[in-house]
Amino acid sequence: MSSTVSPPPNSIQEFIEQIKPFARHFSSRVEAALYFADKGISVFPVHTVRNGKCTCHKGESCKNPGKHPMHKNWQDEATTDPEKIKRMWLANPDANIGLAMGNGLIGTDIDVKNGKDGWKEWLEILKLYNSDQIVSLIQATPSGGLHIILKVKDSSIITGASDALGMGIDIRSDGNLLVGGGSENDKGTYRVFDLPIGSAPGWLESIMIGKSNWVKSMIKRINTGAVFNEGERNKACVAYSVKLNRDGYTKTDFQEKLREFARTRCAPSYEDPALEYIVDHYWNPTKIIHAETPTFMDLGKPDFKIWEGPEENVKECLTTLYEYIPQGPDETYELAKRNLPNMLMQYLKHFFHVTREIAFGKPTDLLYWYNGRYYEYEPTDLELRSKMEYLTSNHITGSEKNEVIAKLMDNAYFVEQQERYVSLENKLLDCENWRVIDFTPEIFATVHLPVKFDQYATHSLWDKFLSDVVSPESIPRLQERAGYTLIPRYPIKKSFLAIGPTDSGKTTFLLAIKNVLGLTNVSAATLQLLSSVDQRFAASKLFKKLANIAPDMPSNSLGDISTFKAIVGRDLVSIEFKYRQAFDAQLRSKLLFSANSLPHVKDDDEAFFNRWDIIVFHKPPLIDSQLDMKLANEASGILSWMIEGAKKITDNGMKFSESTPTAEAMRIWEIASNPIRAFFNRCVVKEGDEEWPTSDYYAAFKKFTNAYHAKLVDEDVFDPQFSKISRTQIITRQRNNEKAKLRKGLKIRDESEWLQSDMANSEVDEQQEYEPSKIYGLVTKTFSNLSPAPRERDNIERWISSEFGVTIQKAQLLVDEWTSKGLVTLNGKHLEFQRDGDSDA
Ligand SMILES: [Zn+2]
Repeated sequence: MSSTVSPPPNSIQEFIEQIKPFARHFSSRVEAALYFADKGISVFPVHTVRNGKCTCHKGESCKNPGKHPMHKNWQDEATTDPEKIKRMWLANPDANIGLAMGNGLIGTDIDVKNGKDGWKEWLEILKLYNSDQIVSLIQATPSGGLHIILKVKDSSIITGASDALGMGIDIRSDGNLLVGGGSENDKGTYRVFDLPIGSAPGWLESIMIGKSNWVKSMIKRINTGAVFNEGERNKACVAYSVKLNRDGYTKTDFQEKLREFARTRCAPSYEDPALEYIVDHYWNPTKIIHAETPTFMDLGKPDFKIWEGPEENVKECLTTLYEYIPQGPDETYELAKRNLPNMLMQYLKHFFHVTREIAFGKPTDLLYWYNGRYYEYEPTDLELRSKMEYLTSNHITGSEKNEVIAKLMDNAYFVEQQERYVSLENKLLDCENWRVIDFTPEIFATVHLPVKFDQYATHSLWDKFLSDVVSPESIPRLQERAGYTLIPRYPIKKSFLAIGPTDSGKTTFLLAIKNVLGLTNVSAATLQLLSSVDQRFAASKLFKKLANIAPDMPSNSLGDISTFKAIVGRDLVSIEFKYRQAFDAQLRSKLLFSANSLPHVKDDDEAFFNRWDIIVFHKPPLIDSQLDMKLANEASGILSWMIEGAKKITDNGMKFSESTPTAEAMRIWEIASNPIRAFFNRCVVKEGDEEWPTSDYYAAFKKFTNAYHAKLVDEDVFDPQFSKISRTQIITRQRNNEKAKLRKGLKIRDESEWLQSDMANSEVDEQQEYEPSKIYGLVTKTFSNLSPAPRERDNIERWISSEFGVTIQKAQLLVDEWTSKGLVTLNGKHLEFQRDGDSDA
């Protein structure tokens, strides 16, 4: 048995200080080699370092300078014969001394380097086994490490390996070597402390055996009920002792079970003095199984609350148990299989407040975890999985992780969906009362804005920007629209559209809002994508987002706009993530778009147009290219501005203080999606057979697009399209020796009739516009006393369409209705009005 020292040294240096009186010095290498041989350690020559280079043929590039044998056959060469040793060192007087391990000797090589603290691990092992510092023949290496050379009963059953007893503690056994005291390398000299070589304590021998590579397969065979024959009986009994230690038994039980095993599972029964050594020495009175660290059985007890301890303890416990997870099908194995994943699940559940969200009475298929401020989810559960790896020191397998995830799905907290609170950088924002509160896991906040709440933050640059790009009346409207993104659910069924020419500040406005909301809370699906056939795909992009912000709407036509209407109407939409079950959800994501020209809409459904709120942006006089960046610095101020806007909506009973009437939205849409047709419908009337120059139409069109912020096209694009739409042709005539291009019977209306209606200002009373009787009244008043020419049916229909913001189709339907009711009669192309129509107006 080895001797011990106390008090236990805290560092290798402290330990060396304690054993300094035993330091042994040598005057030559051969003297050192003979010293080890005298102790029964076989020695052989090892390369040394000369002039900073290894003496091997690799020289400077040697990766192990002064530490490897001079000859390949070093195991044969190793000897304790003094004559042979003298001859070897006569040939290489400065060769370092190699110590051959094995043959009953074990080297424990403890290092403190490369981020490993082997000494700390060593002290923990000693503590765990109630042992004082083990003192035997000790060496100190030039790099600050320590060798403890110990005798063992049988080194052939101990496998030498790096980090075998813990990070930074290697075992050197049969076939391994140590560099002996008196040797030198470029870092310094190996020192030796002349203490008698002690025997390793039984518990240390036993855990070294337990780490050896043959043990696992032997235990597997034991667990499957194998019987062991002569030649493997000793190893089987040793392996069984390891298994018994892992399962945890008292010394008496341990001895009894071992003897029974040797009697019944060995053929013939094993009755050897070696068995008695195992019985007497290999029982580990470890605390691993019996004291602070729970057993597999403890894990299953309902009052065992693993999550209550400090995480370091949990890690130690789970690591130990996962390391010792039994291999075969027996009772302990079943316990381990059942209780370990449960315990890990329980710990994760409590540590992360793992939660599933209930939407419409059904839990969704996503696991949320609390990160100290808010709840996050991630479809592959990476955070949860990496915590499992950490807690088990990577002993957990992929399928075991899946099992824990599956258990979490069943055992998570279940919480109703909530949209009331969002997390900011420093507080939770209550989006019903518009106040801030401290973070708490009690509130299931799933949205985080990367902005600090600061009630004193200013936004002067923002204010100046807004006054540059929109009319003063539009600023409070914009404030409400931006604030609306913070409001839970979808109380106002409107999406926002910023319309205006290129560089008019629309994109800057949207970017600033996006910056406050945070990239992860904003999707960027185009209106076209939301009108695509694959609804699930589109809607999933918007799941849990505060806003969908898509600047610069493309002009290609829209398909099926039902998804768009469903989102804005807060209908149920189907959400589907890869590898997850689809589920229904209501989206809160407010839609914000910007456009110069608008896509053509097939659907002339009012439900489409009454879901738009539109604000016109003007071109600012000067564009600051750094503006987006500068505005980002005002994020806290802009957030306060948005909260103020949201508060107005709340105070106003969940309404915008002002919004675009449907008729106006339709009008804007019509003009922006097809300005030439809109120009034809509004500004031109088919009348007489007078001829006007084509350039007059283009000049009027220019004024029209300017007034309505519509997209202007070139004259050579305008002319053929206008011919098609108006069903007129360009007539070329010789006038005053010049060729004139003219159109016939197409009169441009007086500018006063269409120019003054700036769409930003023209607010029509929504109540009035859809009442067919009022429309009939106004039509009668305007047309009944006119000459037949302007009373052409399609003139009147276009007038209705433009005046009341309804589509041409709708106007046609109205006229059909009047005809069938006899309110009007069709005289060729012209409409005749009934006299009593006047009284209705
Ligand atoms: Zn070398």
